[in-house]
Parts: sequence; structure tokens; C-alpha cells
Amino acid sequence: MPKSQKTVRILIQGIVQGVGFRPFIYNLARNIGILGNVRNTSAGVIIEAQGSPNIVQQFYQRIKLEAPALSRIETMERIAIPNKLYEDFVILHSEIQPGAFSLIPPDIGTCPDCLRELLDSTDRRYRYPFINCTNCGPRFSIIQKMPYDRPFTSMVDFPLCDACKQEYEDPTNRRFHAQPIACPVCGPQISYYVAGKFLAKGEEALSHSRTLIQNGGILALKGIGGFQLVCDAHNTEAIKRLRRAKLRSDKPFALMAYSAEIIRRYCEVTGADLEWLQSPQNPILILNARDILLQHNAPGQCTLGFMLPYTPLHYLITEAGPAYPDVLVMTSGNVSDEPMLIEDEGAFAGLSSMADGFLSHNRPILNRVDDSVYKTSKIGILPVRRARGYSPDPITITEAIPAVFSAGALLKNTFAITKENRVFVSQYMGDLDSLETYKDYEHSVSRYFDLFKFSPEIASCDLHPDYLSTSFAQHFASENNIDLIQVQHHHAHLAACLAENKLPLDQDIAALVYDGTGYGEDSTIWGGEILIGSALGYERAGHLQYLPLPGGDAATRKPYRIALAYLHALGIPVNSSLPPASYCPADESAMLRTQLEKGINVHLTSSMGRLFDAVSSLIGLRQEISYEGQAAIELEAIADPNEDGVYPYEIEAGIIYPTLMFRKIIMDLNNDMNPSVISARFHNTIASLSVEMIKHIISDTTISAVALSGGVWQNSALLSKTSRLIREMGLKPLIHTLLPPNDGCISLGQAVIAGCYQKRKN
Ligand code: ZN
Ligand code: ZN
Ligand code: FE
Repeated sequence: MPKSQKTVRILIQGIVQGVGFRPFIYNLARNIGILGNVRNTSAGVIIEAQGSPNIVQQFYQRIKLEAPALSRIETMERIAIPNKLYEDFVILHSEIQPGAFSLIPPDIGTCPDCLRELLDSTDRRYRYPFINCTNCGPRFSIIQKMPYDRPFTSMVDFPLCDACKQEYEDPTNRRFHAQPIACPVCGPQISYYVAGKFLAKGEEALSHSRTLIQNGGILALKGIGGFQLVCDAHNTEAIKRLRRAKLRSDKPFALMAYSAEIIRRYCEVTGADLEWLQSPQNPILILNARDILLQHNAPGQCTLGFMLPYTPLHYLITEAGPAYPDVLVMTSGNVSDEPMLIEDEGAFAGLSSMADGFLSHNRPILNRVDDSVYKTSKIGILPVRRARGYSPDPITITEAIPAVFSAGALLKNTFAITKENRVFVSQYMGDLDSLETYKDYEHSVSRYFDLFKFSPEIASCDLHPDYLSTSFAQHFASENNIDLIQVQHHHAHLAACLAENKLPLDQDIAALVYDGTGYGEDSTIWGGEILIGSALGYERAGHLQYLPLPGGDAATRKPYRIALAYLHALGIPVNSSLPPASYCPADESAMLRTQLEKGINVHLTSSMGRLFDAVSSLIGLRQEISYEGQAAIELEAIADPNEDGVYPYEIEAGIIYPTLMFRKIIMDLNNDMNPSVISARFHNTIASLSVEMIKHIISDTTISAVALSGGVWQNSALLSKTSRLIREMGLKPLIHTLLPPNDGCISLGQAVIAGCYQKRKN
């Protein structure tokens, strides 16, 4: 070996496993004449590279510049090591390093190369439903432990055939070391079942499934992260049946179409929308509908949630055929409020009343992941639900914090664990008030602890004493003998928005935290909160006037009760022709009045979500709801974008009083004003009172940014109006673009608050 040779060890961390990273290194090294080796470890990818100093430097630079599209290098370190003799450049077997961990790649939609082969009748994987490569296919959903290698995935039971093995071992092949690869000879197979009985496999299984859909039946399909229920999106009878069986009378169903051209028939698709639809993550994207042809899939809305196929099986089930529907309903296969089913047995039992046939397969799903949901809006593409394709990618924050486990909230739960400056927010778990979801939550928490080799120094949870996530965290903390921090719900929203927007965690900001429900420091229900603070602490600078909520959370299903309670409390006389009054049965109305007068089972709330419910009822739009947020969503849907009127309101000592607004809305109603105008004026009023509050509370401070967090901000009409007004004040609006503004972001907020607390204590 010439003396001029130099040898370095390079450690690369980030998303570098399961994304074609080692083959890339291998080919690059061979191309430029580097000797040495590369291996996957649970700490990341480690390379030993030998060559002339010049070539080693070039190698190092080109890794950074040319890394595979799906990879993400977070850190890259090199140290010189003593020269030794290498004969070649090779890929070594993976090794496990105790205590270390590396990033876990999310599931990735079928890539264009694999799609081409899927449709190529001369290819040996022609129409094979599990075709994938280093650039695409299942990842997180099939991983049992790290490092990410075939024996630690659910592909362990499918030994490679000779042809696949050759591709797997050939560094020039695009399937080189692709862990989930398979073919019709050696890989998983699809099967079709009716009433739990096997009927057919392969092409025949597929053709039974398509016939079923075409004839108006409902198919249960085992996807990548769980079962889905599928039917013809044009068939109103099938949809009605699906709604009845799922106990889901109005909540929108997600749709899938084979191509973006088909989606364009029904929705407006901008260039940015198209990019998101076609991204390797393939989320559901809520788009503006162009006509009402498919609107029975999303009643009361003017939008439709569409996605493109993201597995070979989805391509095969959506592809065109004579008289075959161009759009399919593709909704989670779960029993109402429970998590998606992932195993045949459970699906056969749980979905038997909904599905007429089952298209399943024998590749086990190890981690349940729902489809992710985003929404198009005037101000960009906004997250609604973060799961498949995104989890468990971490959120990077501005400083390293101690290891935290945060339990999240109750509804739309996510939990999180932290590692230095990264927060691993779990995929969407659902509502923890269902026992099955809670079991899934416990299972997922321990799966994350294993995968990330995680042991926390501190735990955090919500302040609410009755959340299942709170009691879980309490048990967890006492069992592990670590501190537990209980974080006020809206403070967690503020901190989540701060952290996600990559501001220093100790920087004070203002926050408009508007949501449905959060347990307040004074034991009332908060939700229309104007806060000042950082991850270190907060102050409640203002809030909506407390108003009575009869029957607590149960009333949230009946907006007319909220409207009547508010009018009663505000001393506004109620004419019997007013929509909530005429809707409310006479005996209930008498009972409600007694309840309010005597204060029996009446809770006080400053909730912004409830204010939207009340207005939606008041103008006769929605008196009872069947899914969370329905009244507000429908109120947003009708708002006239060209109306700029604002209702009067009062603010005194930080409290927002809506009495004048209610009176004016009733006057408008009496004057037969169009509800779209009233709705728009209401939205304008909330935007305007919000910025007035901000102006007031930040005078004499150096605050320059305003966080908009909480489920109410899923209302993009309100979000775009308010953020424009904030910008006009010379301040920076902080909105959620990585995590949803709803309670899916709470675990991030809890994590950074507890992390900062622990760091300053240490
Ligand atoms: Zn591929
Ligand atoms: Zn094979
Ligand atoms: Fe919330």
C-alpha cells in the first residue's frame, strides 16, 4: 500500500437505511476508486474509506451532494484511522450496537420504475401486488426491530428465490439490499375470502374483488398499514350501507383514483396540489370540489379528500376497466372509533357487517399506520393528520433536550419521545377513549421504546386528571421512578407551534390557541385562549368570556343546546322562531332552562370551538353533529369569501365579550340576511378581535411572533384572514405545517416543555 493513502471512518446519521444508501455508497466508491467497506449499524451507516487524500475528500463531498432522493443526512462525521489493507470495496453485514439508534424510514409509495415493471407484461413481476425496490415500498409498517434488515421485518418468512437473491446481491441493481423485495415465486400472495372462507388467490382474487366493487359491494382490503374499506364512490347505495355499518352518518370518506387526470375531473388541482398528491408519501389531500357529482362522500362540504394509489395492490384495484368505477371510496377498516384492523382474524370478525368480501395477503403488518391527511388552502398545504409516509420521521428542534416521553392528549392522540434535538412524534393514534385504541397506544409506545432504544429521564402529560394518557403517564413515571410534568393543554399548543417553527425554545411569543376543549388551571374548560410564553412557561393574557356548557362534553353533540345556553347566559331574549329554539323539543327546552338557572351539571367554558358550534346552530345550519367539528366545518364551507363586514364585540381586561355580536347576528337573521354573509362576518369578527387582543397584549414587549394553534385553525378561511392581519401588524404568524394544529401536536409541546424543565434542573 503506498504511503500516500489515507483512511477515514465516516459515520452518517439520518434517514440512511432502507433508502438505497449502501448501494449508493458502494457504487460511488467503486466508481472513483475508494477501497474499504460500508455497513448498517443501529447507530447509522459506517463507512471505512481508503484512497489518496484527494479522492477521499471527493468521496466525502459527493456523498453529501448525490445521496439518494429518499435519504436524509442529518449528521456526517469523519475521523482518520490507521491504514490497513483492503482488497476491494464491500458491503458488510449489519451489526447491532447497544444503546445506539438510527432513524426509521416511513413507508414509501410505489416509485415510477416499479410501476413501469408492474404494467410491463414481459417483466417477471408483471402485475405482482408486492413489487418494490430500494426507492419504494413498505418500511415502518413491517419493522419489528432495528437495524432495518430483512430478518427483523415481517419479510422474515419469505426467503428470497434465486432470481431475487441475485438482484439483492448485485450492487448495480436497483434492488440491491432492498429489504422487502419479493416476486411471485418467493414473496407474499393475495387471497380473497368471503365470510371468513378462502375463495381464490392471485389474479383470481383480484378479479373477484373488482367484480364485487363494480356490483356495488364493499371490499375489505389489507393495505400497507391496516385494512381499508373500499366501494364505488359513485354508488350512493353502497355508501349509504357503509355509513350505516360504520356508524358514520356524515363524516367524509377518503377517495382514491388511479391517476391525477381522474382527480381533476372532480376537483381543482393546482401545481402544488399535484406535487403533494404525487409525492412519495402519497397523502390524502383535501381538495376543492368542482361539482357535486361525488359530494355524497363528504356531505355539507365543498371539498373532497383524494389520494393516488401508493402500493402496487392499490394500482391493481383502481385501474380502469369496462364499466369499472373511476373513483373508489378508500376509508379505514375499523369498527367505529376503534383502530384500523391489521390481522385477518380480527378483520373477518370486526368488519363482517360492513364488508362483502376480503382481499387480504400474508405479509404481516407489524405497525399500524393510517393514511395521512393534508388540506389545500390559500396559504399553502396544511396538515390534518400525520401518519403513513411521515411517521416516524422526527421533528427537529432548535436545541438538544434530555430524553422525554410525552403521552399526548385524548382526542387525535399522538405520543412522542425525544433524542437530543429531535422529537419523534408517533403516527396518529386516534381517540384514546376507546379501549381498543388505548391498547394500540400501549403497544405502540413500547414498540417505539424498543425501536429507538429509548429510556426517558422525564415524562409529561396533560393537566386533565381523567385522560387515559394522563393515567398512563402517571403509572409509567412512578414505575420508572422519573419525574412527571403535567402540562396545561393550551400551553402545550403554544410550545408545539414554537418548536415546529424552529424558534428558540425560550423565546417568548404570543399565541392564539383556539380549540374545543382543554383542561384549565382553574378546572374550567378552556379553549379560546390568548397566551404569552415559551417552552419555559406561560401567562394567560386573555380569553373568551366564560359561558355555560350544559351537560359538559355531551352537549357538544348538540349545538342547539350550546346556542340556547349562550343566549340565556348573555341575557338575549330568544324568539321561538330562532333556529335553535324551534329545533329544541319543548320539554327539553324547559329542562335546559331549569338546568341553566340552577347551575346543575353546567360547566363553564371559554372554548372557541363551542362559539363556532353556537353560531352554526343560531343561523340554522347545523343543530346536531355526528363527528367532531362538523358544525364549524359546515359554517366555514358556506362563508362568502367576498364579504368583509365585521360584527361588534367588546374586550375588557383581556376578556372577549361576544354579546353584541350575538345580538347583531340575530338582527341579520331577522332581516333575512344570507347565512353565507353572516358566516363570513362571524369569521371576520374572530380574526379582527384576535389581532386586537394581540395588539393589546404585546405593547411594551419585544414579542414579534404569534402562534396559531388548536383545532379551530383547521379552518383555513379563519387562518388565512388572521395570519394576513398579523402580518399587516408587522408580526410573524406561526402556523403548523409539519404537525396538525389539532391535538395531534400536543405531544410535541409537552415534550419540549418537559425537556426544557429537565435541562434547566440538571
Ligand atoms: Zn420502486
Ligand atoms: Zn423472488
Ligand atoms: Fe387542543
